[in-house]
Amino acid sequence: MAVRRVVALVCVALLFVGSVPTAAAQQPDIAQEHWYHSWATLTYDTSQWADDYPEIVSVVSAGETEHGRDQWVVRISDWSVENKSDGSPKEKVYIDGGHHGNEHLGTELAFLVAEFYIEGWADGDVEAVEVLQNTELHIMIMLNADGNDLDTRWNMNQVDLNRNYDHHWTTDETASGDGPFSEAETRNNADYMAEWMTDADLYVTMHTGTWILAYPWGFTGEMPSDWEMFEHIRDTIHETIDADLPVRNANAGIYPTHGTSRDYGYGVMGFPTFTFETDDEQFLLGTVQSLSDRLSVELEVMRYLISNVWYWRARLNVTSMEVTPGEQIELHVANQGHASTENASIQYVFEESMEVLWQSENFTVNASNTSDVTLDASNLSLQPGGTFALHYQKRVIDASMFVHQPIDEKLVEMVETDKDGWLPAPGLLLVLLAAFGAAGAANGWPKRRFSGAIEPDGGENPSVDGTTHDAHL
Ligand SMILES: [Zn+2]
Repeated sequence: MAVRRVVALVCVALLFVGSVPTAAAQQPDIAQEHWYHSWATLTYDTSQWADDYPEIVSVVSAGETEHGRDQWVVRISDWSVENKSDGSPKEKVYIDGGHHGNEHLGTELAFLVAEFYIEGWADGDVEAVEVLQNTELHIMIMLNADGNDLDTRWNMNQVDLNRNYDHHWTTDETASGDGPFSEAETRNNADYMAEWMTDADLYVTMHTGTWILAYPWGFTGEMPSDWEMFEHIRDTIHETIDADLPVRNANAGIYPTHGTSRDYGYGVMGFPTFTFETDDEQFLLGTVQSLSDRLSVELEVMRYLISNVWYWRARLNVTSMEVTPGEQIELHVANQGHASTENASIQYVFEESMEVLWQSENFTVNASNTSDVTLDASNLSLQPGGTFALHYQKRVIDASMFVHQPIDEKLVEMVETDKDGWLPAPGLLLVLLAAFGAAGAANGWPKRRFSGAIEPDGGENPSVDGTTHDAHL
């Protein structure tokens, strides 16, 4: 224990050297550090944060473990501003650590991430200040407090909590519990995600065992639907942070697993999810420098994932739209996000009541791409007060959230049909077009077929079934 603590303290000293520009300012006070937290010291430290920095830290309990210990969630954001400066809601990031009570560095990495932003904000670090103005970080540092205090993998019912989630749960896994979510710790975590984190665009769960950043899936060797985004992240990490950090799907990179929080977070909640594992510390005793290097790489990767959370979904923007009621809509749309969307459509709505008057067929827009889309609008008739909106899923995975995004009316160009050539007075335009469209539909005007819709810059759409992409890993 004593050796462990000394090693740990040296790690703390080394961790911030070299990797963080503001290292001097952010040097942790070693005397105050409680490395390898117990639940009690974690409770103390997090409540100290909340006392010292009420402007940015609040601590809530997501529920109690089987043994009655609170599962603390540290919420970190600049609470003086409710939204981002452009008025849009802040990005949300979810992190947990310590599913396995004997994987102490997994817990400590979650703690270090929280500490990085809290102390950075206190020191006026530009990155930390910006992140907290634009992002809510929700961090459950120690999920399995009972197992942590006993230094055991399991919870007090001898269940492996990271096999207990309601996603392809099976008794074939060792100690997966009596059923999905049979344990308070996993249930509380899932309830917290469902209540507070549904629109999160990043979830990272922290473990130890091997050196890897793993994305879904664990239960199958198939690539996740959003393989494009995960591979973009992998490539960026390799190019800019560490060429040697393995970034792979979990099934290939670790081993097949069922009922994990990572697969649940992606498959049920629709988040981009990662398992971050560092080496077990016992393999690194006596090699303090390498452990320190690994933790500083992990922190750098976390900073990259958090600073860029805005990109971990599709971000559609209509750049122009030409509407010919009763005929077609021609749309130019850009996707600024790094995730593709397959279920985008145009809706014609009464925005206040959210009544959908018309909806186009679905179309696809690939990640970081622009598309020209032609949509059949043969049964679209305009009505006074109706407006257009984009409706699309944040990511390809079925579980991902739909977003509804009004289209700026200034971008919408109305085209009169050239059959009659009249030009109505502007005030009458909508009414007349509505009547015209209805009549047109009734008279059986030629209707255009959905014309392919997708013309990504690169030509053919990449396959999203993923099976052909295993070779990239
Ligand atoms: Zn683990």
